[in-house]
Amino acid sequence: MMAGQVPGRLYSLGMLTEKPVRAPLPATGVKPPGTDVVCWMGGEFIPLAEAKIGVMTHGFLYGTATFEGIRAYWNEEQGQLYGLKVREHYRRLTDSAKILLMEPPLPVDELVDLTSELLRRNDFRQDTYIRPTLFKSTEAIGVRLHNLEREMVIFAVPFGEYIAIDRGISAQTVSWRRNSDLAIPARAKITGAYANSAFSKSEAQLNGYDEAIVLTHDGHVSEGSAENLFMVRDGVLMTPGVADDILEGVTRAGMMELASGELRLQTLVRSIDRSELYIADEVFLCGTGAQLSPVISIDHRTIGDGTVGPVTEALAALYFDTVRGRRPAYSHWLTPVY
Ligand code: PMP
Repeated sequence: MMAGQVPGRLYSLGMLTEKPVRAPLPATGVKPPGTDVVCWMGGEFIPLAEAKIGVMTHGFLYGTATFEGIRAYWNEEQGQLYGLKVREHYRRLTDSAKILLMEPPLPVDELVDLTSELLRRNDFRQDTYIRPTLFKSTEAIGVRLHNLEREMVIFAVPFGEYIAIDRGISAQTVSWRRNSDLAIPARAKITGAYANSAFSKSEAQLNGYDEAIVLTHDGHVSEGSAENLFMVRDGVLMTPGVADDILEGVTRAGMMELASGELRLQTLVRSIDRSELYIADEVFLCGTGAQLSPVISIDHRTIGDGTVGPVTEALAALYFDTVRGRRPAYSHWLTPVY
């Protein structure tokens, strides 16, 4: 049976690109995209299948758009769906928009409420991925940022894993370099910039690795194709700083909060050399989509003893409990939808 044909199965990011399959809704409320899922576009809730843009749309022609990837986690025992750090994502969207000379149509708090309303209208009772995109909507030829209309769309789909979280993955330091702040600022989540992530991810995967590690122009470690990077060396947790052409990750900030609050481990934020990764005790990647993914081999070097290390394991346990609403001390991370 082809992927996407099983009603109620979770969608991975790769599968989002597949043609939606029309299938009857099962009683559980699990809805594959393309059935009666609604999205928010042009100021109203409309069926996802009717949310279309013209082929001359500026954001499509030139990548002049910004987006977010947000997760919501279903807690079966509580019968609750939790939006994860929704406010933080819309704050970053607003910052990315400013860099792109535009503004979201609504303030952050209203976008947060709107997202909960979208999840309720879809009656999602499973893990969900939410994708808001704010794009230059004028239908015109002519590359620029100024004097263009903008429009926003938010859709949500049931969602599973993006990259493996339970086994360690392999990574390759790819030959591509991260977008410099002098070219396309990596701190803004700009759709056009994701061609850089696509180059990196495909180079790594076509070479047989699971993920890419991307360096800055001056050769320091920046991040994965769509994840921030942490390493542990001699008991010190480290991550590259915001001047190393990273996306200022929401999950990255969360990991630092959990490490200091729960493990009494402060994160040293500094530039990291490629060869330091080879001799690290632990390396992991994290992001909203990726969650927390241990890296056990890089460029054919085994990291630590080749198993998931103790800091990574502890942070993963804390993270997955927190996002599912099982750690009340971190309820400020979560927006209950129901
Ligand atoms: N870096 C890049 C390039 C990304 O696309 C992502 C995913 N949004 C991340 C890092 C992780 O960011 P966050 O934790 O905010 O999802």
